[in-house]
Amino acid sequence: MSSADDAKKCSQCIFEHVYFARPDSNMFGFSVYETRVRSGRILAQEHPVQGDVVIPVPDSGIATAIGFSEQSGIPFAMGLIRSHYVGRTFIEPSQSIRSFGVKLKLSPVADILRGKSVVVVDDSLVRGTTSRKIMEMIRGAGAREIHLRIGAPPVTHSCFYGIDTPTREELIASSKSVEETARFVMCDTLGYISREGLLRSVNCENPKERFCTACFDGNYPENPLMTVPLAVPD
Ligand code: SF4
Repeated sequence: MSSADDAKKCSQCIFEHVYFARPDSNMFGFSVYETRVRSGRILAQEHPVQGDVVIPVPDSGIATAIGFSEQSGIPFAMGLIRSHYVGRTFIEPSQSIRSFGVKLKLSPVADILRGKSVVVVDDSLVRGTTSRKIMEMIRGAGAREIHLRIGAPPVTHSCFYGIDTPTREELIASSKSVEETARFVMCDTLGYISREGLLRSVNCENPKERFCTACFDGNYPENPLMTVPLAVPD
């Protein structure tokens, strides 16, 4: 029996595909990169928008933004640059990949953003505080409109399986509607991929039985399985 067959007995963590896993990894038998590109395409179908440019929140939003750009026909550009010189000393790699919402320092590229209607694609929206800072930064660089699109459904429940999750009270989607969240993070429109759309993006049989989606729906499985990278290239 293969590792993928073994994994089917457990509820695999869907957030590995959304955020935790490296995009060049193969998680539970599925390419994380391809899953994220597909999720971006589905996101563009579920929440279409007119825009001048699609930009990712790097690094984990890049593949999803590529999919959104492909589906919508809106050009992709790197309107935010992640500093490779800030944060590493203070945020250990283990923390950065095991905690929700940890984002290293970003800088805007004003020439890409100025005067534009910008579609910003991020992997997830957890507390909202980081997204608000990013929207402020993009607006400050001259963006005319900001349309935020999220490659995960609203995170409404904490993880009790070992991921460093904020309390439920800190999860913005547990108490605010989509419209209220959009006002808080200061974007013009906000759209999350649906739970069904995210499950479809993995492109496997019986995704509802296979994956844990408790952060989005509160249905906590008895036997969760996380972080089993089958192949991570050097
Ligand atoms: S609740 Fe489930 S899907 Fe969410 S992070 Fe924990 S194991 Fe992953």
